[in-house]
Amino acid sequence: MLILDWITLSVVSGVGFLAISLVPIVQLLRITRSRQLRRAWLWLAIMVVGFIVGYLLLAELLPRDTDVVLINLICVILVMGGVFVMSVAVLALRTADDVARLVHLEREVVIDPLTAVYNRRYFSEQFEREFELALRTGVSLSLLVIDLDHFKKVNDTHGHAIGDRVLAVVAAILSERVRSSDIVVRYGGEEFVILARATSPEVAARLGERVLSAVRAMKVSCPGNCTLSITASVGVASQEPYDTRETLFDRADAALFEAKRSGRDRVVVGGGVCDDRSMRERRA
Ligand code: GH3
Ligand code: MG
Ligand code: MG
Repeated sequence: MLILDWITLSVVSGVGFLAISLVPIVQLLRITRSRQLRRAWLWLAIMVVGFIVGYLLLAELLPRDTDVVLINLICVILVMGGVFVMSVAVLALRTADDVARLVHLEREVVIDPLTAVYNRRYFSEQFEREFELALRTGVSLSLLVIDLDHFKKVNDTHGHAIGDRVLAVVAAILSERVRSSDIVVRYGGEEFVILARATSPEVAARLGERVLSAVRAMKVSCPGNCTLSITASVGVASQEPYDTRETLFDRADAALFEAKRSGRDRVVVGGGVCDDRSMRERRA
């Protein structure tokens, strides 16, 4: 009778621990994106249920006259097995939570909160990396600098909140129009940059045109049943063997300046070497 109680107690606590372990496993199943991992966790959940059934069968079928030492050993294994599975499941869930939090924080550091595209910090890192890579591989890297036309008027006429909404919609349009290998950045204020990997000047110019027609077609609703539309200007430059990161960016910026000067709402592809001093004067 004493032996049976000991076994019953061990089976009940072991089954309890196993049942508790199903809670974090189900949560892991819910948060895991990878199909392969989800399948693995599902198998583990099925195995845990199998163990629970095994525990119950063992309690039912174990001969009453089994050696006391063996009974004690089995009981310890039953309880420790349950504790082990539960601990692994809880720790796995906590680790997954930690990793998710870290990924979220890392994302926040490089994402512009208003427009949800990459910020200037991320651009600097990626520009450096892609520039070096393009130099080594000889694959053309292009930059598109995009500036909204007369954006100050949007703020002055409709208010800052509507201006913010326009920026977010433009950023979404840019993100939709680019290839997955391109990087869309809010460079500052109402200025965006697209870092286009493996892109010739012709292809970059076509991308610029696509972006401009999408911005032109954009309608943002504003209070009082009005809708507002906007245009943008684009400067394009592609990496040449003589370029540094600064001259490449300056050439795209000079092309943008030319697009503004020649009437806005257009794409200008940058030419050769740019005079740094005049560039800085324009920026100022
Ligand atoms: P241009 O065609 O020459 O580019 O004229 P512009 O009015 O677009 O350029 P300007 O540099 O004179 O004005 C830029 C405006 O962008 C002024 C500023 O208030 C606005 N702006 C910058 N950042 C933000 C922002 O985060 N939200 C809003 N709503 N406006 C912003
Ligand atoms: Mg502007
Ligand atoms: Mg500007």
